[in-house]
Amino acid sequence: MAQKGVQVIAVEPGSPAARAGIRAGDTLLAINGEPVLDQLSYQFLVSQRDRTTVAVQRPDRTTFERRIANGGEGIGVDLAADEVKVCRMNCVFCFVHQMPEGFRKSLYLKDEDIRLSFRYGHFTTLSSSDRAELDRIVRERLSPIHVSVHATDPETRVRVTGNPKEGRILDKIDHLLAGGVDVHTQAVVAPGLNDGRVWERTFSDLWERRAAPGRKGGVLSLSCVPVGLTAHREGLPTVQEVSPAYAADWVRRWQPEVRRITRLTDGEPWLLLADEWYTRAAIEVPGRGFYSPTWAQLENGVGLVRRFLEQHRRFLRGEKKHAFAGRRALLLTGSSFAPTLERSAALLNRATGSQLRVAAVKNFSFGQSVTVAGLLCGKDLLYAAHADREAHGGRPDWVEAVVVPSASLRTHTGPTDQYTLQGVVARAEGTFLDDMTLDRLSAELGLPVVPSGENLSQTLDHLRRAYSGGPDLLSRFHRDGLNLPQGAYNP
Ligand code: SF4
Repeated sequence: MAQKGVQVIAVEPGSPAARAGIRAGDTLLAINGEPVLDQLSYQFLVSQRDRTTVAVQRPDRTTFERRIANGGEGIGVDLAADEVKVCRMNCVFCFVHQMPEGFRKSLYLKDEDIRLSFRYGHFTTLSSSDRAELDRIVRERLSPIHVSVHATDPETRVRVTGNPKEGRILDKIDHLLAGGVDVHTQAVVAPGLNDGRVWERTFSDLWERRAAPGRKGGVLSLSCVPVGLTAHREGLPTVQEVSPAYAADWVRRWQPEVRRITRLTDGEPWLLLADEWYTRAAIEVPGRGFYSPTWAQLENGVGLVRRFLEQHRRFLRGEKKHAFAGRRALLLTGSSFAPTLERSAALLNRATGSQLRVAAVKNFSFGQSVTVAGLLCGKDLLYAAHADREAHGGRPDWVEAVVVPSASLRTHTGPTDQYTLQGVVARAEGTFLDDMTLDRLSAELGLPVVPSGENLSQTLDHLRRAYSGGPDLLSRFHRDGLNLPQGAYNP
Protein backbone atom coordinates (compact mmCIF):
# COMPACT_ATOMS: atom_id res chain seq x y z
CA MET A 1 0.00 0.00 0.00
CA ALA A 2 1.45 3.31 -1.04
CA GLN A 3 -0.40 5.53 1.42
CA LYS A 4 1.88 7.60 3.57
CA GLY A 5 0.10 7.76 6.86
CA VAL A 6 -3.58 8.31 7.44
CA GLN A 7 -5.18 11.65 8.13
CA VAL A 8 -7.00 12.32 11.40
CA ILE A 9 -10.41 13.85 10.71
CA ALA A 10 -11.62 14.16 14.31
CA VAL A 11 -10.25 13.77 17.81
CA GLU A 12 -12.48 12.74 20.66
CA PRO A 13 -12.34 15.40 23.43
CA GLY A 14 -10.52 14.14 26.52
CA SER A 15 -9.21 11.05 24.70
CA PRO A 16 -5.58 9.87 24.91
CA ALA A 17 -5.01 11.44 21.47
CA ALA A 18 -6.44 14.80 22.59
CA ARG A 19 -4.28 14.76 25.72
CA ALA A 20 -1.25 14.03 23.54
CA GLY A 21 -1.98 17.13 21.45
CA ILE A 22 -3.08 15.30 18.30
CA ARG A 23 -5.50 17.42 16.25
CA ALA A 24 -7.84 17.00 13.31
CA GLY A 25 -5.79 17.53 10.12
CA ASP A 26 -2.73 15.77 11.51
CA THR A 27 -1.50 12.58 9.87
CA LEU A 28 -0.68 9.39 11.78
CA LEU A 29 2.54 8.20 10.18
CA ALA A 30 3.55 5.28 12.36
CA ILE A 31 2.62 3.42 15.50
CA ASN A 32 5.36 1.66 17.44
CA GLY A 33 7.61 2.13 14.42
CA GLU A 34 5.20 0.42 12.00
CA PRO A 35 3.69 2.50 9.20
CA VAL A 36 -0.02 3.25 9.50
CA LEU A 37 -1.39 2.09 6.16
CA ASP A 38 -5.11 2.50 6.67
CA GLN A 39 -7.87 2.13 9.23
CA LEU A 40 -7.37 -1.61 9.60
CA SER A 41 -3.65 -1.31 10.23
CA TYR A 42 -4.33 1.46 12.79
CA GLN A 43 -6.73 -0.85 14.64
CA PHE A 44 -4.24 -3.68 14.55
CA LEU A 45 -1.29 -1.57 15.69
CA VAL A 46 -3.04 0.11 18.64
CA SER A 47 -4.28 -3.25 19.84
CA GLN A 48 -0.73 -4.59 20.16
CA ARG A 49 0.44 -2.68 23.20
CA ASP A 50 -0.89 -0.91 26.29
CA ARG A 51 1.51 1.99 25.70
CA THR A 52 1.83 3.13 22.15
CA THR A 53 4.35 5.39 20.45
CA VAL A 54 2.68 7.45 17.74
CA ALA A 55 4.53 9.39 15.03
CA VAL A 56 2.45 12.33 13.83
CA GLN A 57 2.82 14.86 11.02
CA ARG A 58 1.24 18.31 11.27
CA PRO A 59 -0.32 19.89 8.14
CA ASP A 60 2.84 22.09 7.86
CA ARG A 61 4.81 18.80 7.55
CA THR A 62 6.55 19.11 10.93
CA THR A 63 6.60 15.82 12.79
CA PHE A 64 6.61 14.73 16.43
CA GLU A 65 6.24 11.58 18.49
CA ARG A 66 4.11 10.92 21.55
CA ARG A 67 3.97 8.01 23.93
CA ILE A 68 0.36 7.30 24.77
CA ALA A 69 -1.19 5.02 27.40
CA ASN A 70 -4.03 3.44 25.45
CA GLY A 71 -4.56 0.12 27.22
CA GLY A 72 -4.47 -1.79 23.93
CA GLU A 73 -7.37 0.22 22.54
CA GLY A 74 -7.94 3.06 20.10
CA ILE A 75 -6.44 6.42 21.03
CA GLY A 76 -9.64 8.38 20.27
CA VAL A 77 -9.27 9.48 16.66
CA ASP A 78 -11.47 9.20 13.59
CA LEU A 79 -9.42 8.54 10.46
CA ALA A 80 -10.10 9.52 6.86
CA ALA A 81 -11.89 6.91 4.72
CA ASP A 82 -9.58 4.52 2.91
CA GLU A 83 -9.26 4.54 -0.85
CA VAL A 84 -10.36 1.27 -2.41
CA LYS A 85 -7.77 -0.59 -4.46
CA VAL A 86 -8.82 -1.49 -7.97
CA CYS A 87 -8.10 -4.72 -9.81
CA ARG A 88 -5.50 -5.48 -12.44
CA MET A 89 -7.36 -8.31 -14.07
CA ASN A 90 -9.35 -8.59 -17.22
CA CYS A 91 -11.63 -11.49 -16.47
CA VAL A 92 -13.58 -12.75 -19.45
CA PHE A 93 -16.80 -12.61 -17.45
CA CYS A 94 -16.10 -9.43 -15.45
CA PHE A 95 -19.46 -7.89 -14.68
CA VAL A 96 -18.08 -4.36 -14.81
CA HIS A 97 -17.02 -4.86 -18.43
CA GLN A 98 -20.59 -5.88 -19.25
CA MET A 99 -22.20 -2.81 -17.69
CA PRO A 100 -24.29 -0.73 -20.08
CA GLU A 101 -23.21 2.91 -20.50
CA GLY A 102 -24.71 5.75 -18.56
CA PHE A 103 -24.49 4.59 -14.96
CA ARG A 104 -22.67 6.57 -12.31
CA LYS A 105 -18.92 6.48 -12.50
CA SER A 106 -18.32 4.54 -9.32
CA LEU A 107 -20.16 1.51 -10.71
CA TYR A 108 -17.50 1.05 -13.39
CA LEU A 109 -14.66 0.83 -10.89
CA LYS A 110 -13.47 -2.66 -10.08
CA ASP A 111 -12.69 -3.08 -6.41
CA GLU A 112 -10.02 -5.60 -5.54
CA ASP A 113 -9.16 -5.01 -1.96
CA ILE A 114 -8.15 -7.40 0.78
CA ARG A 115 -9.63 -5.02 3.38
CA LEU A 116 -13.09 -5.28 1.81
CA SER A 117 -12.55 -9.00 1.55
CA PHE A 118 -11.77 -9.27 5.26
CA ARG A 119 -14.37 -6.81 6.52
CA TYR A 120 -17.30 -7.48 4.22
CA GLY A 121 -16.64 -10.77 2.49
CA HIS A 122 -15.95 -9.31 -0.94
CA PHE A 123 -14.09 -11.76 -3.13
CA THR A 124 -10.62 -10.79 -4.27
CA THR A 125 -8.50 -12.49 -6.93
CA LEU A 126 -5.40 -11.44 -4.92
CA SER A 127 -4.07 -9.93 -8.17
CA SER A 128 -3.21 -6.68 -6.39
CA SER A 129 -1.58 -8.52 -3.51
CA ASP A 130 2.20 -8.73 -3.76
CA ARG A 131 4.35 -10.56 -1.25
CA ALA A 132 4.34 -7.57 1.11
CA GLU A 133 0.57 -7.46 1.14
CA LEU A 134 0.27 -11.21 1.68
CA ASP A 135 2.67 -10.82 4.63
CA ARG A 136 0.50 -8.03 5.94
CA ILE A 137 -2.59 -10.27 5.82
CA VAL A 138 -0.68 -12.83 7.88
CA ARG A 139 0.84 -10.28 10.28
CA GLU A 140 -2.46 -8.51 10.97
CA ARG A 141 -4.37 -11.80 11.01
CA LEU A 142 -6.90 -10.62 8.43
CA SER A 143 -8.61 -13.97 8.51
CA PRO A 144 -10.69 -15.24 6.83
CA ILE A 145 -10.03 -13.75 3.39
CA HIS A 146 -12.37 -14.43 0.46
CA VAL A 147 -10.58 -15.45 -2.73
CA SER A 148 -11.91 -15.81 -6.28
CA VAL A 149 -9.96 -18.80 -7.53
CA HIS A 150 -11.95 -19.63 -10.67
CA ALA A 151 -9.42 -22.31 -11.63
CA THR A 152 -6.31 -23.76 -10.00
CA ASP A 153 -5.02 -24.94 -13.36
CA PRO A 154 -2.56 -22.12 -14.19
CA GLU A 155 -3.29 -21.99 -17.91
CA THR A 156 -7.02 -21.82 -17.40
CA ARG A 157 -6.70 -19.21 -14.71
CA VAL A 158 -4.67 -17.03 -17.05
CA ARG A 159 -7.36 -17.49 -19.71
CA VAL A 160 -10.14 -16.66 -17.27
CA THR A 161 -8.47 -13.67 -15.66
CA GLY A 162 -6.69 -12.29 -18.70
CA ASN A 163 -3.57 -11.74 -16.59
CA PRO A 164 -0.53 -13.84 -17.55
CA LYS A 165 1.06 -13.21 -14.15
CA GLU A 166 -1.84 -14.55 -12.11
CA GLY A 167 -1.95 -18.19 -13.11
CA ARG A 168 -0.45 -19.58 -9.92
CA ILE A 169 -3.14 -18.70 -7.43
CA LEU A 170 -2.29 -21.70 -5.27
CA ASP A 171 1.11 -20.17 -4.46
CA LYS A 172 -0.62 -17.15 -2.94
CA ILE A 173 -3.21 -19.24 -1.15
CA ASP A 174 -0.51 -21.54 0.25
CA HIS A 175 1.40 -18.53 1.55
CA LEU A 176 -1.69 -17.38 3.44
CA LEU A 177 -2.51 -20.84 4.76
CA ALA A 178 1.06 -21.35 5.99
CA GLY A 179 0.70 -18.08 7.88
CA GLY A 180 -2.41 -19.36 9.63
CA VAL A 181 -4.94 -17.43 7.55
CA ASP A 182 -8.22 -19.15 6.66
CA VAL A 183 -9.70 -18.69 3.21
CA HIS A 184 -13.19 -18.89 1.75
CA THR A 185 -12.99 -19.55 -1.99
CA GLN A 186 -15.24 -19.34 -5.00
CA ALA A 187 -15.15 -20.33 -8.63
CA VAL A 188 -17.39 -18.62 -11.16
CA VAL A 189 -18.09 -21.44 -13.60
CA ALA A 190 -18.43 -20.83 -17.32
CA PRO A 191 -19.32 -23.77 -19.60
CA GLY A 192 -16.36 -25.00 -21.64
CA LEU A 193 -13.96 -22.65 -19.87
CA ASN A 194 -13.35 -23.82 -16.32
CA ASP A 195 -15.85 -26.63 -15.87
CA GLY A 196 -15.20 -30.37 -16.44
CA ARG A 197 -11.70 -31.54 -15.54
CA VAL A 198 -10.56 -28.03 -14.71
CA TRP A 199 -13.31 -27.62 -12.13
CA GLU A 200 -12.62 -31.09 -10.72
CA ARG A 201 -8.97 -30.17 -10.26
CA THR A 202 -9.93 -26.86 -8.63
CA PHE A 203 -12.20 -28.74 -6.28
CA SER A 204 -9.62 -31.37 -5.37
CA ASP A 205 -6.74 -28.86 -4.98
CA LEU A 206 -8.78 -26.78 -2.59
CA TRP A 207 -10.24 -29.79 -0.77
CA GLU A 208 -6.66 -30.95 -0.07
CA ARG A 209 -6.13 -27.63 1.64
CA ARG A 210 -9.35 -27.63 3.67
CA ALA A 211 -9.38 -26.40 7.23
CA ALA A 212 -8.81 -29.27 9.63
CA PRO A 213 -7.88 -29.74 13.28
CA GLY A 214 -4.14 -29.39 13.69
CA ARG A 215 -3.70 -27.39 10.49
CA LYS A 216 -2.71 -23.73 10.87
CA GLY A 217 -4.78 -22.15 8.12
CA GLY A 218 -7.20 -23.86 5.81
CA VAL A 219 -9.75 -23.47 3.05
CA LEU A 220 -13.07 -23.03 4.85
CA SER A 221 -15.37 -23.37 1.86
CA LEU A 222 -15.55 -23.49 -1.92
CA SER A 223 -18.60 -22.16 -3.72
CA CYS A 224 -19.37 -22.61 -7.38
CA VAL A 225 -21.41 -19.87 -8.99
CA PRO A 226 -22.78 -19.96 -12.55
CA VAL A 227 -21.38 -17.23 -14.77
CA GLY A 228 -23.62 -14.18 -15.19
CA LEU A 229 -23.77 -12.52 -18.60
CA THR A 230 -25.56 -9.31 -19.53
CA ALA A 231 -26.75 -8.19 -22.96
CA HIS A 232 -23.80 -5.75 -23.16
CA ARG A 233 -20.86 -7.87 -24.30
CA GLU A 234 -19.91 -6.07 -27.50
CA GLY A 235 -16.18 -6.55 -28.14
CA LEU A 236 -15.75 -8.98 -25.25
CA PRO A 237 -14.61 -12.60 -25.53
CA THR A 238 -17.31 -15.15 -26.20
CA VAL A 239 -18.50 -16.84 -23.04
CA GLN A 240 -21.12 -19.54 -23.13
CA GLU A 241 -24.07 -18.95 -20.86
CA VAL A 242 -25.38 -21.39 -18.30
CA SER A 243 -28.61 -22.72 -19.76
CA PRO A 244 -31.36 -24.27 -17.64
CA ALA A 245 -30.33 -27.72 -18.92
CA TYR A 246 -26.67 -27.12 -18.05
CA ALA A 247 -27.68 -25.86 -14.58
CA ALA A 248 -29.87 -28.93 -14.04
CA ASP A 249 -26.97 -31.23 -15.02
CA TRP A 250 -24.68 -29.37 -12.65
CA VAL A 251 -27.11 -29.80 -9.77
CA ARG A 252 -27.56 -33.51 -10.54
CA ARG A 253 -23.80 -34.05 -10.69
CA TRP A 254 -22.69 -31.96 -7.72
CA GLN A 255 -25.51 -32.00 -5.19
CA PRO A 256 -24.69 -35.61 -4.14
CA GLU A 257 -21.03 -34.59 -3.87
CA VAL A 258 -21.98 -31.73 -1.54
CA ARG A 259 -23.79 -34.23 0.69
CA ARG A 260 -20.83 -36.62 0.64
CA ILE A 261 -18.41 -33.85 1.54
CA THR A 262 -20.69 -32.58 4.29
CA ARG A 263 -20.65 -36.05 5.88
CA LEU A 264 -16.84 -35.97 5.85
CA THR A 265 -16.80 -32.58 7.56
CA ASP A 266 -19.12 -33.56 10.42
CA GLY A 267 -22.12 -31.76 9.00
CA GLU A 268 -20.38 -28.53 8.09
CA PRO A 269 -21.00 -27.79 4.39
CA TRP A 270 -17.72 -27.10 2.60
CA LEU A 271 -18.60 -27.38 -1.07
CA LEU A 272 -21.38 -24.90 -1.81
CA LEU A 273 -23.71 -24.60 -4.78
CA ALA A 274 -25.02 -21.09 -5.36
CA ASP A 275 -28.80 -20.69 -5.41
CA GLU A 276 -28.63 -19.61 -9.03
CA TRP A 277 -27.94 -23.19 -10.16
CA TYR A 278 -31.33 -24.13 -8.75
CA THR A 279 -33.27 -21.07 -9.86
CA ARG A 280 -31.92 -21.35 -13.41
CA ALA A 281 -32.75 -25.03 -13.52
CA ALA A 282 -36.15 -24.44 -11.85
CA ILE A 283 -35.25 -27.07 -9.24
CA GLU A 284 -36.31 -26.69 -5.61
CA VAL A 285 -33.38 -25.64 -3.43
CA PRO A 286 -32.23 -28.29 -0.95
CA GLY A 287 -33.14 -28.29 2.74
CA ARG A 288 -31.57 -26.44 5.61
CA GLY A 289 -28.98 -29.15 6.31
CA PHE A 290 -27.39 -28.37 2.97
CA TYR A 291 -26.36 -24.91 4.24
CA SER A 292 -26.38 -24.88 8.02
CA PRO A 293 -25.07 -24.62 10.67
CA THR A 294 -22.92 -21.71 9.52
CA TRP A 295 -24.70 -20.68 6.29
CA ALA A 296 -21.28 -19.89 4.82
CA GLN A 297 -21.20 -17.56 1.80
CA LEU A 298 -24.81 -16.46 2.25
CA GLU A 299 -23.80 -13.06 0.91
CA ASN A 300 -22.47 -14.76 -2.18
CA GLY A 301 -25.95 -16.06 -2.99
CA VAL A 302 -25.57 -19.47 -1.32
CA GLY A 303 -28.63 -20.44 0.73
CA LEU A 304 -30.59 -17.18 0.51
CA VAL A 305 -33.63 -18.89 -0.98
CA ARG A 306 -33.66 -21.64 1.64
CA ARG A 307 -33.17 -19.12 4.44
CA PHE A 308 -36.08 -17.06 3.11
CA LEU A 309 -38.30 -20.16 3.01
CA GLU A 310 -37.30 -21.14 6.54
CA GLN A 311 -38.07 -17.68 7.86
CA HIS A 312 -41.38 -17.69 6.01
CA ARG A 313 -42.35 -21.01 7.50
CA ARG A 314 -41.79 -19.60 10.98
CA PHE A 315 -43.67 -16.41 10.09
CA LEU A 316 -46.69 -18.41 8.95
CA ARG A 317 -46.75 -20.26 12.27
CA GLY A 318 -46.85 -17.03 14.33
CA GLU A 319 -49.57 -14.49 15.05
CA LYS A 320 -47.83 -11.48 13.52
CA LYS A 321 -48.86 -12.55 10.03
CA HIS A 322 -52.48 -11.51 10.71
CA ALA A 323 -51.44 -7.87 10.46
CA PHE A 324 -51.32 -8.54 6.71
CA ALA A 325 -55.10 -9.17 6.67
CA GLY A 326 -56.80 -7.14 3.95
CA ARG A 327 -53.56 -5.55 2.73
CA ARG A 328 -53.17 -5.08 -1.01
CA ALA A 329 -49.56 -4.77 -2.11
CA LEU A 330 -47.56 -5.50 -5.23
CA LEU A 331 -44.26 -7.30 -4.58
CA LEU A 332 -41.70 -6.77 -7.33
CA THR A 333 -38.72 -9.07 -7.68
CA GLY A 334 -36.35 -10.62 -10.21
CA SER A 335 -37.68 -13.42 -12.35
CA SER A 336 -35.42 -16.03 -10.72
CA PHE A 337 -36.86 -15.43 -7.25
CA ALA A 338 -40.43 -14.68 -8.37
CA PRO A 339 -41.73 -18.28 -8.28
CA THR A 340 -40.50 -18.72 -4.68
CA LEU A 341 -41.98 -15.41 -3.58
CA GLU A 342 -45.21 -16.12 -5.41
CA ARG A 343 -45.71 -19.42 -3.59
CA SER A 344 -44.90 -17.79 -0.26
CA ALA A 345 -47.30 -14.89 -0.87
CA ALA A 346 -50.04 -17.34 -1.87
CA LEU A 347 -49.66 -19.22 1.42
CA LEU A 348 -49.84 -15.93 3.30
CA ASN A 349 -52.89 -14.76 1.36
CA ARG A 350 -54.65 -18.00 2.14
CA ALA A 351 -53.77 -17.78 5.85
CA THR A 352 -54.61 -14.13 6.42
CA GLY A 353 -56.86 -12.84 3.64
CA SER A 354 -54.12 -10.49 2.43
CA GLN A 355 -53.97 -9.63 -1.25
CA LEU A 356 -50.29 -9.71 -2.05
CA ARG A 357 -49.41 -10.09 -5.70
CA VAL A 358 -45.96 -10.85 -7.09
CA ALA A 359 -44.64 -9.53 -10.40
CA ALA A 360 -41.45 -10.83 -11.99
CA VAL A 361 -39.58 -7.78 -13.25
CA LYS A 362 -37.80 -7.95 -16.60
CA ASN A 363 -34.35 -6.44 -16.53
CA PHE A 364 -34.30 -4.14 -19.55
CA SER A 365 -31.24 -2.29 -18.25
CA PHE A 366 -28.80 -5.22 -18.25
CA GLY A 367 -30.71 -7.57 -20.51
CA GLN A 368 -33.26 -10.23 -19.79
CA SER A 369 -30.66 -12.90 -19.15
CA VAL A 370 -30.07 -11.06 -15.85
CA THR A 371 -32.76 -12.40 -13.56
CA VAL A 372 -31.59 -11.61 -10.03
CA ALA A 373 -33.37 -8.98 -7.94
CA GLY A 374 -30.13 -7.27 -6.93
CA LEU A 375 -29.49 -5.93 -10.43
CA LEU A 376 -32.92 -4.45 -11.13
CA CYS A 377 -32.86 -0.74 -11.84
CA GLY A 378 -35.40 1.87 -10.79
CA LYS A 379 -36.73 2.22 -14.31
CA ASP A 380 -37.26 -1.56 -14.63
CA LEU A 381 -39.27 -1.53 -11.41
CA LEU A 382 -41.26 1.50 -12.51
CA TYR A 383 -42.08 -0.13 -15.83
CA ALA A 384 -43.17 -3.36 -14.14
CA ALA A 385 -45.40 -1.50 -11.67
CA HIS A 386 -47.03 0.49 -14.51
CA ALA A 387 -47.58 -2.70 -16.50
CA ASP A 388 -49.17 -4.38 -13.50
CA ARG A 389 -51.47 -1.40 -12.97
CA GLU A 390 -52.57 -1.46 -16.61
CA ALA A 391 -53.20 -5.19 -16.41
CA HIS A 392 -55.41 -4.66 -13.36
CA GLY A 393 -57.78 -1.95 -14.50
CA GLY A 394 -55.42 1.04 -14.55
CA ARG A 395 -56.77 2.57 -11.32
CA PRO A 396 -54.18 4.70 -9.49
CA ASP A 397 -54.97 2.88 -6.22
CA TRP A 398 -54.86 -0.60 -7.72
CA VAL A 399 -52.69 -1.60 -4.73
CA GLU A 400 -51.97 0.16 -1.45
CA ALA A 401 -48.20 -0.05 -1.75
CA VAL A 402 -45.41 -1.38 -3.92
CA VAL A 403 -42.57 -3.42 -2.43
CA VAL A 404 -39.17 -3.43 -4.13
CA PRO A 405 -36.28 -5.81 -3.43
CA SER A 406 -33.93 -4.45 -0.79
CA ALA A 407 -31.10 -6.01 -2.78
CA SER A 408 -31.82 -3.62 -5.67
CA LEU A 409 -31.13 -0.66 -3.42
CA ARG A 410 -27.47 -1.49 -3.14
CA THR A 411 -24.58 -0.96 -5.46
CA HIS A 412 -22.91 -4.13 -6.66
CA THR A 413 -19.78 -3.01 -4.84
CA GLY A 414 -21.44 -3.74 -1.52
CA PRO A 415 -20.91 -2.04 1.79
CA THR A 416 -18.29 0.58 1.15
CA ASP A 417 -19.30 3.14 3.76
CA GLN A 418 -15.80 3.11 5.20
CA TYR A 419 -14.20 3.33 1.80
CA THR A 420 -14.20 5.47 -1.29
CA LEU A 421 -13.53 4.58 -4.89
CA GLN A 422 -11.11 7.16 -6.25
CA GLY A 423 -12.66 9.74 -3.96
CA VAL A 424 -16.27 8.86 -4.78
CA VAL A 425 -18.38 7.19 -2.12
CA ALA A 426 -19.82 4.25 -4.02
CA ARG A 427 -23.08 3.84 -2.23
CA ALA A 428 -25.95 6.31 -1.98
CA GLU A 429 -28.72 5.48 0.46
CA GLY A 430 -32.08 4.49 -0.97
CA THR A 431 -30.84 4.73 -4.55
CA PHE A 432 -31.18 2.13 -7.28
CA LEU A 433 -28.28 1.31 -9.59
CA ASP A 434 -29.56 3.81 -12.18
CA ASP A 435 -29.66 6.60 -9.56
CA MET A 436 -33.43 6.64 -9.33
CA THR A 437 -34.37 7.06 -5.68
CA LEU A 438 -37.02 5.25 -3.71
CA ASP A 439 -38.73 8.61 -3.18
CA ARG A 440 -38.86 9.32 -6.89
CA LEU A 441 -40.26 5.89 -7.67
CA SER A 442 -42.90 6.48 -5.04
CA ALA A 443 -43.73 9.91 -6.49
CA GLU A 444 -43.99 8.48 -10.02
CA LEU A 445 -46.40 5.79 -8.86
CA GLY A 446 -48.29 7.99 -6.42
CA LEU A 447 -48.03 5.24 -3.81
CA PRO A 448 -45.80 4.28 -0.91
CA VAL A 449 -42.84 2.23 -2.16
CA VAL A 450 -40.95 0.28 0.49
CA PRO A 451 -37.91 -2.00 0.52
CA SER A 452 -38.76 -5.66 1.05
CA GLY A 453 -36.33 -6.40 3.83
CA GLU A 454 -35.07 -9.92 4.19
CA ASN A 455 -38.41 -11.72 4.44
CA LEU A 456 -42.16 -11.07 4.51
CA SER A 457 -42.10 -10.33 8.24
CA GLN A 458 -39.74 -7.42 7.57
CA THR A 459 -41.83 -6.42 4.56
CA LEU A 460 -44.79 -6.16 6.93
CA ASP A 461 -42.83 -3.88 9.28
CA HIS A 462 -41.94 -1.61 6.38
CA LEU A 463 -45.50 -1.54 5.07
CA ARG A 464 -46.89 -0.72 8.52
CA ARG A 465 -44.51 2.20 8.77
CA ALA A 466 -45.52 3.39 5.32
CA TYR A 467 -49.25 3.06 6.11
CA SER A 468 -48.92 4.87 9.42
CA GLY A 469 -46.87 7.65 7.87
CA GLY A 470 -44.20 6.78 10.43
CA PRO A 471 -40.64 7.99 10.49
CA ASP A 472 -38.96 8.33 7.16
CA LEU A 473 -37.83 4.94 5.93
CA LEU A 474 -34.64 6.07 4.36
CA SER A 475 -33.31 7.86 7.41
CA ARG A 476 -33.77 4.52 9.21
CA PHE A 477 -32.25 2.54 6.37
CA HIS A 478 -29.24 1.47 8.37
CA ARG A 479 -30.59 1.48 11.90
CA ASP A 480 -33.50 -0.85 11.39
CA GLY A 481 -31.75 -3.49 9.40
CA LEU A 482 -33.20 -2.43 6.07
CA ASN A 483 -29.68 -2.29 4.81
CA LEU A 484 -29.12 -5.96 4.27
CA PRO A 485 -26.11 -8.01 3.37
CA GLN A 486 -25.40 -8.13 -0.31
CA GLY A 487 -27.23 -10.97 -2.00
CA ALA A 488 -29.17 -11.36 -5.14
CA TYR A 489 -32.37 -12.79 -3.74
CA ASN A 490 -33.70 -10.47 -1.07
CA PRO A 491 -37.31 -10.58 -2.13
S1 SF4 B 1 -11.13 -9.53 -10.69
FE1 SF4 B 1 -13.28 -9.00 -10.54
S2 SF4 B 1 -13.32 -6.83 -10.99
FE2 SF4 B 1 -11.36 -7.58 -11.72
S3 SF4 B 1 -11.65 -8.08 -13.88
FE3 SF4 B 1 -12.01 -9.93 -12.69
S4 SF4 B 1 -14.20 -9.99 -12.31
FE4 SF4 B 1 -13.67 -7.90 -12.93
